[in-house]
Amino acid sequence: MSVSRLFVESDLAAGSEAPLNEAQIHYLRHVMRRPDGAPLLVFNGRDGEWRAALESHGKKAAVARLGERTREQVAEPDVWLCFAPVKRARIDYIAEKATELGASALQPVVTHHTNVERVNVERLRANAIEAAEQTERLTVPEVRAPVDLARLLADWPKGRRLLMCDETGGGPPIAEMLSGLDASARVAPWAIVVGPEGGFAPAELAALRRIKDVTAVGLGPRILRADTAALAALACWQALVGDWRRPTPRLAADYRTSRAPV
Ligand code: SAM
Repeated sequence: MSVSRLFVESDLAAGSEAPLNEAQIHYLRHVMRRPDGAPLLVFNGRDGEWRAALESHGKKAAVARLGERTREQVAEPDVWLCFAPVKRARIDYIAEKATELGASALQPVVTHHTNVERVNVERLRANAIEAAEQTERLTVPEVRAPVDLARLLADWPKGRRLLMCDETGGGPPIAEMLSGLDASARVAPWAIVVGPEGGFAPAELAALRRIKDVTAVGLGPRILRADTAALAALACWQALVGDWRRPTPRLAADYRTSRAPV
């Protein structure tokens, strides 16, 4: 029996019970047809990952009854992905892939050329949770409501470095820039910003360049679509600054075999 892996909100400790929400109960009971005692893995983004067993509470409610911890919570790279909203299917794709690629926050940014009015934050968060469960992350990225670029820059957090993807040729190749970082820059909090279809307006490029710790970079000789550029830049960042520089933990191998039912 494969082991379903679920994100829960409650605190996690040996022997405790983590209430499951309606969608999780429906999925386990009616889609996966899991009986009581079925093995689960649960995580909450704070307390690591735990083995658990499905346990009914009356006709409708159910909990994950926790067993032992399988993985300690570990620090993860702090890299926001700030992107101009694109049409529905592609913004869902950004949420899913940026979660797999380890973004710590997803920040939709409204710019002069952004042609998408509404962003369904709840749907993006659901995509991010599902992707985090599947990719075996121990956290779920924070999914934020859209913000105007001017507001985002006005509130820019001190010390957070900004990687600005500039297709107008305003910066060195991303690999050259990220490979040359000093130790303090490598451990700093980061953000990547990508413009909309139609690119940043000139005034926006100027405003971005006024951020203290901003660096403009190029993503090669071709003009990438906004979603391609966002994910490509994030992958480069993980490879040259983030946790792709660490060996894939042995856990990935042992972990699968040890995911035996509880
Ligand atoms: N101005 C073009 C347009 O109207 O199609 C380019 C916009 S591009 C579709 C969307 C965003 O992706 C850009 O604002 C930039 O942030 C990023 N981007 C795309 N290609 C890039 C490249 N070769 N180098 C750096 N950034 C790029």
